[in-house]
Amino acid sequence: MKLYAQQIFTDTGWQSDKTLVIEEGVITAINSGFEEGATRLKGPVIPGMSNCHSHAFQRAFVGMSEQGSEGQDSFWTWRKVMYGFLGQINPDQLQTIATQLYIEMLKAGYTNVGEFHYLHHQSDGKHYQNLAEMSSQIFKAADNAGIALTHLPVAYQYSGFGSQPANPGQCRFINDADQFNQLVSNCFDLSKEYAESRVGIAPHSLRATDLPMLNDILGHVKSLDASAPIHIHIAEQQQEVNDSLAFSQKRPVQWLYDNIDVDQHWCLIHATHLTQSERQGIAKSKAVAGICPTTEANLGDGIFPTTEYLEDDGVIAIGSDSHISVNPIEELRWLEYAQRLIKQQRAILATSEQASVGANLWQRAVQGGAQSLGRNCDSISVGKKADLLVLDENKVSLFAHQSQHILDSFIFASHQNPVRDVFVAGNWVVEDGRHHLEDSSAEQYRNVLKTLSAAL
Ligand SMILES: [Zn+2]
Repeated sequence: MKLYAQQIFTDTGWQSDKTLVIEEGVITAINSGFEEGATRLKGPVIPGMSNCHSHAFQRAFVGMSEQGSEGQDSFWTWRKVMYGFLGQINPDQLQTIATQLYIEMLKAGYTNVGEFHYLHHQSDGKHYQNLAEMSSQIFKAADNAGIALTHLPVAYQYSGFGSQPANPGQCRFINDADQFNQLVSNCFDLSKEYAESRVGIAPHSLRATDLPMLNDILGHVKSLDASAPIHIHIAEQQQEVNDSLAFSQKRPVQWLYDNIDVDQHWCLIHATHLTQSERQGIAKSKAVAGICPTTEANLGDGIFPTTEYLEDDGVIAIGSDSHISVNPIEELRWLEYAQRLIKQQRAILATSEQASVGANLWQRAVQGGAQSLGRNCDSISVGKKADLLVLDENKVSLFAHQSQHILDSFIFASHQNPVRDVFVAGNWVVEDGRHHLEDSSAEQYRNVLKTLSAAL
């Protein structure tokens, strides 16, 4: 397969008049000029974005928790409503919800998703005959949609620091270490059936696991794949920090680094509440900070110290988490805007080497996202997966006439989705803004939503 574009954002910046040669999903050459047989793409080409953090089922719950009660709502009241909702979802419904979500992700420019999956069991907590039943629905949904998947089954055993017993609302999540390791092994088997997939693990949080469990499950996954991605929610809420201090006299990030060897395979989701030394420690370890700006805003979590962390040369990725927004543009726009509002300055997340905030953020989030999900898609260059977005030249030309402004306009001034075409490993999954399953998926999804809403 050959694709020709007038402008391509490669690992060395914008290049013009190039033909990409793609074999078995991988870019094998970037040649100058138009090559015989190439398809002419209708706009600038940029690398697809990795979405490092998704809970697919939560897509069906967005907008149902936005009615306030005299300023008393918080992450914890939101979680209570969310627990009531997830009790009902069956395997078929999960597949429908996830398929719809993944189509939406592709159309918005995400080509790769990390599914932090914790809805494992039946509503009463009994496991399905197939322990990986719900995981299998996620694999099928990603395959239906054509998005690359890093499946991250979640280890969840406790309701709070100090191995407190889980509460009834959490019964669909719970596995002990042995059962969890079996689930992970089953997911590795499942992954062999799907080309663009891999498996890692996600200890849910330090609230939901303890040190013996962490050591056990890390040992197991590393025996299957030494480079498996490891994701964890951490320091999202001030209350979590307070509980951690009460339990161990250590803050969550401090406790994690004191007890576990955290390296570049780790992704710390949120990591909102950090001291300077915790922030520097994450950057030094080369772990990824998985930031979810729209969810963190929606849940009132707080603001990640992005400016200082990037000055420490920290690695970032972005995620849509609760899916209150499914749009990488909005995540990156708010990553920058939150810093501007705090510091009362402009164009903050740029560097002396990369003066364009948009280009800097897109490139860093693509690289960190690829690292966090363990996929070979960190840039458009030879040897990398052909995960590509084509921006609509008609829309882009309303905002930018020079290459150096395209990604700034894309992130800060796009009010209609400018993603025209999407390729995942060379497969053309969105063409002229349309996904071939979008109508049938939306219809099935509406029916599921009606059923679930009626039972609330
Ligand atoms: Zn999350």
